[in-house]
Amino acid sequence: MCGWVQRGRDLGGLTFIDLRDRYGMTQLLFNLETDDALCLAARKLGREFVLQATGIVAERSSKNPKMATGDIEISVLRMEVLNPSSIPPFTIEDETDGGDDLRMKYRYLDLRRAPVMNSILLRHRMAQVSRSYMDANGFIEIETPVLIKSTPEGARDFVVPSRMNPGEFYALPQSPQTFKQLLMVSGFDKYFQIVKCFRDEDLRADRQPEFTQIDCEMSFVEREDILNMFEGLVRHLFKTVRGIEIPTLERITYADAMKYYGNDKPDLRFDMRLCELTNLVQGKGFKVFDDAELVLAICVKGQSEYTRKQLDELTEWVKRPQLGMTGLIYAKHNADGSIKSSVDKFFQIEDLAQWSASCGSNPGDLILVLAGAETRTRKAMSELRLEMGERMGLRDKNIFRCAWVLDFPLLEKDEESGRWHAMHHPFTSALPDDIHLLDSEPGKVRANAYDMVVNGVEVGGGSIRIHNKEIQKKMFSLLGFSDEEAQKQFGFLMNAFEYGAPPHGGIAFGFDRLCSLFGGSESIRDYIAFPKNNAGRDVMIDSPSSISDEQLKELAIRVHKID
Ligand code: ASP
Repeated sequence: MCGWVQRGRDLGGLTFIDLRDRYGMTQLLFNLETDDALCLAARKLGREFVLQATGIVAERSSKNPKMATGDIEISVLRMEVLNPSSIPPFTIEDETDGGDDLRMKYRYLDLRRAPVMNSILLRHRMAQVSRSYMDANGFIEIETPVLIKSTPEGARDFVVPSRMNPGEFYALPQSPQTFKQLLMVSGFDKYFQIVKCFRDEDLRADRQPEFTQIDCEMSFVEREDILNMFEGLVRHLFKTVRGIEIPTLERITYADAMKYYGNDKPDLRFDMRLCELTNLVQGKGFKVFDDAELVLAICVKGQSEYTRKQLDELTEWVKRPQLGMTGLIYAKHNADGSIKSSVDKFFQIEDLAQWSASCGSNPGDLILVLAGAETRTRKAMSELRLEMGERMGLRDKNIFRCAWVLDFPLLEKDEESGRWHAMHHPFTSALPDDIHLLDSEPGKVRANAYDMVVNGVEVGGGSIRIHNKEIQKKMFSLLGFSDEEAQKQFGFLMNAFEYGAPPHGGIAFGFDRLCSLFGGSESIRDYIAFPKNNAGRDVMIDSPSSISDEQLKELAIRVHKID
């Protein structure tokens, strides 16, 4: 056996060493009586020494049921120290004493810890299972270039200066979107790639500047074909990797997701739907409601006993700057059938009975109400719903509810500039039923686009593409590109559409996110061998870093220092 010394114990005549390798931990036994030199050498071993040991596998006299290998030990006959080790900066244990920064700096040591290593092993398995599904279904894995020209997918590009073309830059792909579409024009028919993508965005816990997609595209398909194929992939992954049969995916329209859950990636592990009370509650003299664009309620089952203190605390919670509500109104539907609200001054028992009927409360339930500006209130209620679901233990990470969200709007308006933006990306087609609205009411046009959502996390998204040059041109013009700009940036794609582009569509899954979901963790970082921190830095290799004046000169770059 070869591995690293986890810990040693001396019990007089016996010395035990736990040896760790990729597969787990094994107990080595050294006996002073049988070989005193060897035993004394074993006592000198330090944590994380690299060891090769040869011996006899024997049944333990006192077994350790907590250890996978707890029934056996190795009686060591020979041992060689392959390399000693300095004392590691944190303990290499499942529960380590090392803080985030330290662990990132010594990520190669962090990766030795079983939970971290297991996350990377899970990632490997996910990739292999995905590949075999794609291959079995006739998909061809094709690599697309990393040094490209900017593709507008909503984020900022990372750019790379070109030494051979001074003053010019490559961009790193935000996704292989245009290339995979060109591959369809070439006739590859079914493409996939497990591929790095790069987006220069502000970072959050579940975002990394470079991340991985399972990127896919198919020709001669309609939406239904794509949904079936990739529902198949996800079900296959669940079955093979987690041993879970998930039911057929639910389908929900974007409009319904917003209406009932307040966001476009609903967590369907629990119901607690949003219920609109605006019309019902206005005109009764309660200013907060009367002034509101939107009044929303949720019915929290079985929580009418919520105490004053708990409600005050929830009120503070919705008032945090992230949600920015001015307050929280509640009505307790008591076990005896009576209803008591925090606004009894304005609402009579008959009014409250209507609230109850609208949101389906029963004796024992708690009704929570938020009011204010439309977007903010919907967002806050969606967060409050998730929070209540969490508090009630309704968001079990071992239960998976997967759904397709369909019929996204094609465009969204940027309120500041008044310009239309593609909600998915500019290559997405409109639903055939809505094409006639493109000129008159572009905001009403629904896209032939879909997201896959698992437990409130968007794991993938895609669309049926435009494959007609004139329509693509029109899309660019709706998005505010002049013909000239569109030609300059996307001429290659529009030209390709002149040479027999097949109807096509596809999807991309956020692979890191998918892995974290399967592993039951919130953060994608655990599933990336060498991730970056919240400031986009790799603290282990200390990157990004400045480059020498010589390099800058060679690249024809002058650095402006901004104070
Ligand atoms: N390229 C898209 C994305 O990165 C996915 C797709 O439309 O296939 O989100």
